[in-house]
Amino acid sequence: MQLTNRQIFQNNLALPSIVADPLEIVSADGIYLYTDSNERYTDLVSGVSVSNLGHSNPLIKEAVNQQVDKYMHLMVYGKYIQSPQVKLTKALTDILPESLNSVYLVNSGSEAVEGALKLAKRVTGRAEILAFNNAYHGSTHGAMSVLGCEEMKYAYRPLLPGITFCEFNNFDTVNKITTNTACIIMEPVQTEAGVILPDPEWINAIREKCTATGTILIFDEIQMGFGRSGDIFAFQKLNVTPDILCLAKAMGAGMPIGAFISSAENMKTLTNNPILGHITTFGGHPVCAAAAYKGLQILQDEQLHIHANEKGEQFVKALEKHDSVKEIRQIGLMIGVELHHNHDVPSLLKIFQKNKLIVDQFLFNTHSFRIAPPLIITSEQIEETVQTIIMSLDEQITR
Ligand code: PLP
Repeated sequence: MQLTNRQIFQNNLALPSIVADPLEIVSADGIYLYTDSNERYTDLVSGVSVSNLGHSNPLIKEAVNQQVDKYMHLMVYGKYIQSPQVKLTKALTDILPESLNSVYLVNSGSEAVEGALKLAKRVTGRAEILAFNNAYHGSTHGAMSVLGCEEMKYAYRPLLPGITFCEFNNFDTVNKITTNTACIIMEPVQTEAGVILPDPEWINAIREKCTATGTILIFDEIQMGFGRSGDIFAFQKLNVTPDILCLAKAMGAGMPIGAFISSAENMKTLTNNPILGHITTFGGHPVCAAAAYKGLQILQDEQLHIHANEKGEQFVKALEKHDSVKEIRQIGLMIGVELHHNHDVPSLLKIFQKNKLIVDQFLFNTHSFRIAPPLIITSEQIEETVQTIIMSLDEQITR
């Protein structure tokens, strides 16, 4: 008997979580996903901040196809000059400050974080690391070591030693940065905590203390990068420049690629004594790099990051008065809607799905749901979407 896709999915695909009734998606276009029964769902998650340009952008498909026709994988460890990597690096360093002029291309967000932590240890010769409660930086051992949630990591100990966890927006953190600290790793806007914006004075104080103590400031912009914050990078909006910037997710416009970026002087420490300080077979894969280069061009040409602000505000204005809503936290098109605590978010997500909206929770904030649609969403589509959100919230109240 021939098994269905659903049966093989459930029996043979190793899955990190159990989803009661997963949708089978057969195509995706713009802000919409289409199922095997030809139903249309509006995507308000963007594959967790990946599909900033929407799904199936024809220019990205063209860039991918053109590169596939030229070459795919050639050789690892930076042995050949590959024009997609070079173009992408030039486009990135053109918009970044001089202190972030060296781009190490990797495959994923977790790998960017691994590279950043290793680089900070090499540059400073120190091993102590500061990280934040309710921060998510990835699932590999190093990234999990700086994950700010004991419940998710206790089963994998021992992890990296010498890590101290701090409270986001708490000024005590500044005192914890000393001349023994290799680095402090943080999301400039905490996403999985439910979209927590930094106090500008606090984040500036962190920057100053890092500079004074020779500590490396690592910003993980893996979710916020490439326009979601309303600027190309959130650090530009906050006016605080990190020593290492970690990127991934939306970077590849749907293809897997990431980067950790620092000064050329810092990066040289990975090259010698010992050699090959960080190596990766597929990092900066030419097809992914071609997609990423085109994606960055589209973002800039269409100014999607700038429009993200007014679009985000449109969601907030339409939803903030609803009886179920306690608070909305928003930057660009990253929105955390916190409900009054008598509301159950998982049951609301089921209502959203029934009403053909794809909405998700945050890892570390059980009372909020996430609105993070592709940045290409139009004002009319937002209008239509908020009507369905309001209808779903009403439906939950009357149940
Ligand atoms: N950092 C942040 C802020 C993330 O949200 C994620 C993934 O959700 C990661 C790092 C890890 O990225 P990846 O899943 O590509 O390894």
